[in-house]
Amino acid sequence: MIANAFTYKRANSADEAVSMLNDQSKILAGGHSLIPAMKLRLNNPENLIDISQITSLRGITDNEGSISIGATTTHAEIAASDLLKQHIPMMGQTALSIGDIQVRNKGTIGGSMAHADPAADWPAALLAADAKVNITGPSGSRIVDIDHFFTGFFETALAENEIITSISIPKTASNAHSAYTKFKQPASRFAIVGCAAAVDLDGGIVRNIRVALTGVSENAFRATSVENALSGQPLNSESIASAIANGVTQGNAVLSDHYASEEYRSHLAKVYVKKALTAI
Ligand SMILES: Cc1cc2nc3c(=O)[nH]c(=O)nc-3n(C[C@H](O)[C@H](O)[C@H](O)COP(=O)(O)OP(=O)(O)OC[C@H]3O[C@@H](n4cnc5c(N)ncnc54)[C@H](O)[C@@H]3O)c2cc1C
Repeated sequence: MIANAFTYKRANSADEAVSMLNDQSKILAGGHSLIPAMKLRLNNPENLIDISQITSLRGITDNEGSISIGATTTHAEIAASDLLKQHIPMMGQTALSIGDIQVRNKGTIGGSMAHADPAADWPAALLAADAKVNITGPSGSRIVDIDHFFTGFFETALAENEIITSISIPKTASNAHSAYTKFKQPASRFAIVGCAAAVDLDGGIVRNIRVALTGVSENAFRATSVENALSGQPLNSESIASAIANGVTQGNAVLSDHYASEEYRSHLAKVYVKKALTAI
C-alpha cells in the first residue's frame, strides 16, 4: 500500500526537531518501523521531521564511567563498536540479531526504543544494561531510568513533543558478564522471546544481576524472581535451574498469538533465561 500524503522536513538540531513537533507530525529516524506503519495506514502523520542527519545525535562515545549512544546510531554501528564489545558484549550481540543487513544499516536504537514494539530486541538489552534515556523537549532535557521507560504496548515515558537524544550505559567492571539470546520469528527475526542478562561475579558468586525479557508481554520487563533467586548465589547449572523452576514471568501477562501460545511462550521464556545465564 502507499502511505497517505505527508510533508517532509529535515531538522538540523535536536532543538529544531522539538520545535517542529506537533500532534500532526512524527519524527523520522531510520524509517524501518514508521514507514511500514504508514504504508499500512496504521500511522498517518501529516508531517515527517527527519532527524537522521543531525550529527550530534549519532555515534558512540566513551564518557569515563559510562558509554553514550546517540539516538540515531544504527544497529550496524552498535554491532561494529569495539568500545561496546569491550565493556558490554551483549550490546553487539543484540544489534547483530536484529533483522537483516538492510534493517541494521538504517534502523536506529532511538527509533526502536521510541517505537517500543513488544517484540523488539533493544528493550531487553537496555533493561539488563541499566541504561538511562536522555530526552529533550520544549521545557528542556530530562533523564529517564530505563526501568520506567517502557510503560505498555507500544508505549513509553516519552511525551508527544519530546525526542530521545541518547542512551547512557554504565561501563561494567572486569568481573561483569553479559549475554543476549533469542527465539526469533523466522522471517523478520523479531523476538518471539528474547532474554538479556548482565551479571557481576565475585569469586563465582553473583553480586549484581539484571535479567530482562522481551517478546513475552506487552512490554519488556525484568525477571525479578530470577534476579532475587540468584543474588548472592554461585552461578552454575543447579542455581540457574532452581531460579527458573517456578517460571520467570511472575506478575506479567504473557502474550498469546499465532507464533506462540501463552503456555509455549512461558516455557520459552524459561529456556531463554537459562540460555542467556549459561552463555555468561
Ligand atoms: C524487515 C524488518 C525486520 C526487523 N527486524 C527486527 C528485529 O529482529 N528486532 C528488532 O528489534 N527490530 C526489528 N525491526 C525494527 C527495526 O529495528 C527498526 O529500525 C526500529 O524498530 C525503528 O528504528 P527506526 O530508526 O527505523 O525508527 P523509525 O521507523 O524512523 O521511527 C519509529 C518510531 O519512533 C519515533 N522515533 C524515531 N526516533 C526517535 C527519537 N530519537 N525520539 C523520539 N521518537 C523517535 C518515530 O516518530 C516513530 O514513531 C525490523 C524492521 C523491519 C522492517
